[in-house]
Amino acid sequence: MQCTICGEQSGQWVYELDPDKREFSMYGRGYTYGADMVLCDDCRGLWDLDEDSAVIARFASSDDHDSDQAELIVSVLRSATAGVQPQHYIDLLPPGVAELQAQGFTMIDSLTGLADVADFWPIEHRRSLPETRPEWLEDGRTEIWMVRSPSPELVPGDYLNAMFLIADAAPRSPGNYLRSVADAAEAVFAMAPEKIKSFVPENPEDSP
Ligand SMILES: [Zn+2]
Repeated sequence: MQCTICGEQSGQWVYELDPDKREFSMYGRGYTYGADMVLCDDCRGLWDLDEDSAVIARFASSDDHDSDQAELIVSVLRSATAGVQPQHYIDLLPPGVAELQAQGFTMIDSLTGLADVADFWPIEHRRSLPETRPEWLEDGRTEIWMVRSPSPELVPGDYLNAMFLIADAAPRSPGNYLRSVADAAEAVFAMAPEKIKSFVPENPEDSP
């Protein structure tokens, strides 16, 4: 999960925000912060020690926040989490998720914002569980989809990369992206692992 402060994907401590203290105004507009704040171990250390200048500096250097926004948003988060004990995200997962994770399945929404791609995943490599998290139920979601890689040589992200690269390159009419992804998924799941890997964009940071 993404850490609210530093933006790294190692966030694991969830602080539920006080719903009455999540609203603030910035540049003359009203905003409402999300339902929770998620921190990584490092940021939690700073947060719990009230090291707000260090927290603001981290927040300002992540993403596209400037330092004015960072100071304001950190003060909003500080007030909305007063007295809140963080919970580990594992303890907040719906029943069954941890067991499927142990079997190699990953929640689709931790892999992509387009959770509908689970519909195109091979049936034997996907599982669904009833959704229990209030923030997702409010969005009308009733199921959690989890997927695993059909090939031991690949991870689910390899399939998604190939799928989205093919779908992005396909001609389409507006609003038809999901159709393009469905077509791309059908093609990708029929490919050999080496072929799927060849779609993965070169990322110099991933090289040893
Ligand atoms: Zn962090």
